[in-house]
Amino acid sequence: MSTQNYQVFWQEALKQLSEEYKSNGKEDEFKIWFKMDYVEDHDNVIVVNVPSEFLKIQMMSRGYVEQIKSKLMEITGQSDFSIEIQYNNATPVSTPVPSQEKVEVKSSKKEEKKTDKKETSGKHHPQLMEKFTFENFVPGDNNNYAYSATLAAAKNPGKSDTLNPILLYGGVGLGKTHLMQSLGNYIYQHDEKAKICFISSENFFNEFYYSLQNNQMNKFKNKYRNYDVFLFDDIQFLIGKESLQEECFHTFNGLMEHHAQMVFTCDRPINELKGIEDRLKTRFSSGVCIDLKPPSYENRIAIIRKKLEIEKKVIRNDVVEYIAKNIQMNVRDLEASIKKIVGYQDLIQTEVTIEIAQDLLKDTISEATGNAVSMETILKVVADIENTSIADIKGKGRSKRLAETRHIAIYVARELLEYSYSELGGEFGGRDHTTILSAYNGIADRIKTDPSFEKRIKDIVNSIKEYKKI
Ligand code: ADP
Ligand code: MG
Repeated sequence: MSTQNYQVFWQEALKQLSEEYKSNGKEDEFKIWFKMDYVEDHDNVIVVNVPSEFLKIQMMSRGYVEQIKSKLMEITGQSDFSIEIQYNNATPVSTPVPSQEKVEVKSSKKEEKKTDKKETSGKHHPQLMEKFTFENFVPGDNNNYAYSATLAAAKNPGKSDTLNPILLYGGVGLGKTHLMQSLGNYIYQHDEKAKICFISSENFFNEFYYSLQNNQMNKFKNKYRNYDVFLFDDIQFLIGKESLQEECFHTFNGLMEHHAQMVFTCDRPINELKGIEDRLKTRFSSGVCIDLKPPSYENRIAIIRKKLEIEKKVIRNDVVEYIAKNIQMNVRDLEASIKKIVGYQDLIQTEVTIEIAQDLLKDTISEATGNAVSMETILKVVADIENTSIADIKGKGRSKRLAETRHIAIYVARELLEYSYSELGGEFGGRDHTTILSAYNGIADRIKTDPSFEKRIKDIVNSIKEYKKI
């Protein structure tokens, strides 16, 4: 084979393989893996270039190099040649077959550095994450109130009794810390002299404990009572820590006295914080308490797009939809999925298809959906176990047995879903929130005193979780 001839054969081999993959419905696979560019050939060694070492290893281990070799043998009728693969990230990659849907992934390191530089310029508070800003937050029905309240307080910190303190509560990864820090960032950007403190209650505890042991309590007290803005994250960590709670109580009183703006976050409603003094709970909830809910499908799409826009990345629409459909309860999981896709895309230097996305995200999705239980599942499983129907559970029937089943379903729904009492009322045939609350409390009290009943409820909960996995 002469050098000149070989190049023509190489292209022909790729063309034929592309057609074969296409007719087997594996066009995407071809586009991803056959990214070998002819460089030269000498002494029966054909030198080709691939975009990365990763691709080189994959092409060899998956047998793609062998396939192209056989194809070349078939076309040329020769077998005494070998293929040498180089990899070089700097070489521009050309896809052998034009791709209509090709997505341009602008991900060069240079560009990332430029973005970093831009982000770190300007005012930045050392305790706050730069990316946690109102601009980067996507408001929706699930969090509009929390968004507006924190933004309003950021514009007029400490001025409104209604918006001070703000308590944000809700499940993991729903944007509580993001909004709290957005408020801090906003204030700092407008007033660099503002004394802002962001601390998790766990770190507050560590510092408190250290000060106590080293006779530095006065210093500790002075420090924490003098802030203009106090952002206290994850107050559930205070549960059961009495002396810490005592200190918090005095700290908050001191901060209140000079109208410092305070924001607290918690992973559950305040009345469910067992093991926290009532007077402290009263403090936490003396302004406004707002719950954050998981985002709707449309909102999840908007969040994914926002994150891609911030990172200056593009992924296929069907992959965006796939992620939004499957990851429902936690925005952090959404972010992790985007990162995985984009990271892989950067590595193989071509768009990730839905099939690859499914493979890449299978663990994240099974974990995410494993934790997510729907109202429908709860009703179905409770109805099955208790030998009744969903319609009866939601209906008006008042027999003792049916009422008990209904109360169990309400209790379990409240435990497994992030619904308010009024929302649960809506789900359970339009009952009002006091009826739901008393049903919930009735079951909760019985669980505390009756071990066999407790077991019955646990079994139902486990069945619901198991049902999701089927
Ligand atoms: P929480 O404190 O409620 O556990 P975080 O505030 O840490 O959750 O949010 C988890 C991640 O999800 C963060 O990276 C945050 O930027 C992102 N996030 C959550 N909600 C939104 C939203 N509505 N818009 C944009 N990003 C969001
Ligand atoms: Mg948080």
